[in-house]
Amino acid sequence: MNPLSEAGPVPVGTAFLTGVTGQDGSYLAESLLSRGWEVHGLIRDELRPGAHEGETTVDGVEYHVGDLSRPDAVGSILESVKPDLVFNLGGISSVYQSWQHPYDTALISGASVVSMLETTWQLQQATGKEIRFLQASSAELFGEAESAPQSETTPIRPISPYGAAKALAHHTVSVYRSRGMFACSAILYNHESVRRPGKFVTRKITSGAAAIAAGKLDKLSLGNLNAIRDWGWAPDFVDAMVRIIHAPEPDDFVVATGVSHSVQDFVEAAFKAVGIDDWRAVVDVDESLARPTDAAEMRGDISKISSRLGWRPSVDFDALVTAMVRHDQSLLAGK
Ligand code: GDP
Repeated sequence: MNPLSEAGPVPVGTAFLTGVTGQDGSYLAESLLSRGWEVHGLIRDELRPGAHEGETTVDGVEYHVGDLSRPDAVGSILESVKPDLVFNLGGISSVYQSWQHPYDTALISGASVVSMLETTWQLQQATGKEIRFLQASSAELFGEAESAPQSETTPIRPISPYGAAKALAHHTVSVYRSRGMFACSAILYNHESVRRPGKFVTRKITSGAAAIAAGKLDKLSLGNLNAIRDWGWAPDFVDAMVRIIHAPEPDDFVVATGVSHSVQDFVEAAFKAVGIDDWRAVVDVDESLARPTDAAEMRGDISKISSRLGWRPSVDFDALVTAMVRHDQSLLAGK
């Protein structure tokens, strides 16, 4: 499961990452550093191990404190770092959270991207050196899509504050691309790993199943079990982002596995992995955890990225569930 083993040679330079302590940012930082890149990352506040759940710091990254909701501050950092590559992975990461903080979501995951693109463009014009920009876009752009799988040409019709903010950022990437900038988007479907925070359903299920099997928890409460998602392996998706930013031309690419499963399938697989067949005895459905609107089926069409950039996922659904469950079991065992 080496995230970038297939990605090919990468020229060495300076990369700037927002969201650097998140799941994707930390895997990306590790892989860029291992290839000799200088990596700078934006963090919300001074590093305090354990201060924010699910954050991973990586030795060798140069961290800069800055708030995505303060575009001027982020702009100054960009100007001082003078990167060759910008990966914008930061922002409000959870659709659920975006319903609780719609305005912050619009600001941090939408408007701030507009500002970052403008600063990057101005910096490129001033220095004459190309800066490539990758936006972590999202399948939430497609909202309640009329059909599955969705592709780069599926209409953008968000149904959550998260999707709407991501749509603004996605469209603005196209605007700057038309202006002549190497601006590209990775339209990421759900992607998971042992670094996925517990607020996401996969980690909630795998940690819950491990705890129930160990006798440390009685019940797991979940929301919509019927939602169908295309779950991939985060290190594979990081590999895709590296390929997209090094592609011959800037473009948008769907990054997914092409295979979808329901939340219930995930529950069954996770409980099976811990030896519990009758998962219904230990899982409750709590309507308060359901969302005002929730896309029924998300599944990505990966023909474009496969044919143009030779990318394919390396970890399937069963391997993904098992890896996450085993990790949560070893955490509980104190290993
Ligand atoms: P998202 O697709 O980025 O929002 O990722 P999540 O992992 O948060 O949610 C994936 C799907 O799981 C959505 O359709 C949720 O409605 C569904 N789901 C069902 N129960 C839960 C739950 O207890 N927590 C979360 N986060 N999602 C749940």
